[in-house]
Amino acid sequence: MKAVVVNPKGKANIEVIEKELRPLKSGEALVDVEYCGVCHTDLHVAAGDFGKVDGRILGHEGIGVVSKVAADVTNLKIGDRVSIAWMFQACGRCEYCTTGRETFCRNVKNAGYSVDGGMAEQCIVTADYAVKVPDGLDPAQASSITCAGVTTYKAIKVSDVKAGQWIVIYGCGGLGNLAIQYAKHVFNAKVIAVDINDDKLSLAKEIGADMTINPITQGDADEIIQEQVGGAYAAVVTAVSKTAFNSAVDAVRACGKVVAVGLPSETMDLNIPRLVLDGIEVVGSLVGTRKDLEEAFHFGAEGKVVPVVQTRCLHDVQDIFEEMEQGKIQGRMVIDFKQHKCNH
Ligand SMILES: [Zn+2]
Ligand SMILES: [Zn+2]
Repeated sequence: MKAVVVNPKGKANIEVIEKELRPLKSGEALVDVEYCGVCHTDLHVAAGDFGKVDGRILGHEGIGVVSKVAADVTNLKIGDRVSIAWMFQACGRCEYCTTGRETFCRNVKNAGYSVDGGMAEQCIVTADYAVKVPDGLDPAQASSITCAGVTTYKAIKVSDVKAGQWIVIYGCGGLGNLAIQYAKHVFNAKVIAVDINDDKLSLAKEIGADMTINPITQGDADEIIQEQVGGAYAAVVTAVSKTAFNSAVDAVRACGKVVAVGLPSETMDLNIPRLVLDGIEVVGSLVGTRKDLEEAFHFGAEGKVVPVVQTRCLHDVQDIFEEMEQGKIQGRMVIDFKQHKCNH
């Protein structure tokens, strides 16, 4: 089968190779991959930013159909459509796993990083951790929910925002776009979208944002939010910028919650009296559990959340990685592994 693997000597640190998968072990299933999205995390893995994993099959936004199961597998059957997500497998026994916080398991395995992922024609999954994709959800769109969708859905859950309350989403790109849709159409919150790019803000408005702010042309988002709505109840920061994190702390009202999702390699400023006197909470949120993904898929299948995806041929994968690195890509690029659309 064809697989996209890490190779520092290849164009964009990757190459497409022919690879044979090993036979299934107990508890595993074989998935014929239909689609796999390309994520910035893949660029980091390929570049060795999280450690060298030469030869690893990339991909944690995979969707495919089960074609074989090990004899002891009971939760999946041939023909089921499932996900291959960043949270590939956890230990299932530790304090995090047994208290609904499995993404923080200290022995978690990540698809496309610590184990072979979904950017290949086939992938071996741990059956207990592969989440079923409901009927009625387009598999290419599902690939985006497997990463950006579940991450933002979970972050809004963590924010504790209630129906009718104001939430501010910093960054309206791939993550923020889905955060706005979940906040608006699933949690029924009132949404403020903040971005420095007007195109992204007009898209934010189209998909449901009640208010948009461009800090470059309109001034400090936190000041505008305090002035117009008395501060947001919660903020979700998907932007990869320290400025956005600092603004979020000032944009929430007393007892507001700031949820960090973006990963800038900087530190944020926290005004301690502000935290103490106003009871502000600042918390990180990491992808989502299997249950979160099941729910995130469900809302996608209901049409409440519609990821913007563009399918591309496997032969374009190195170009896609380069275009992404150069910031040329709008929306989500999803590799079509079904090959029949390929003209190469
Ligand atoms: Zn991803
Ligand atoms: Zn665990």
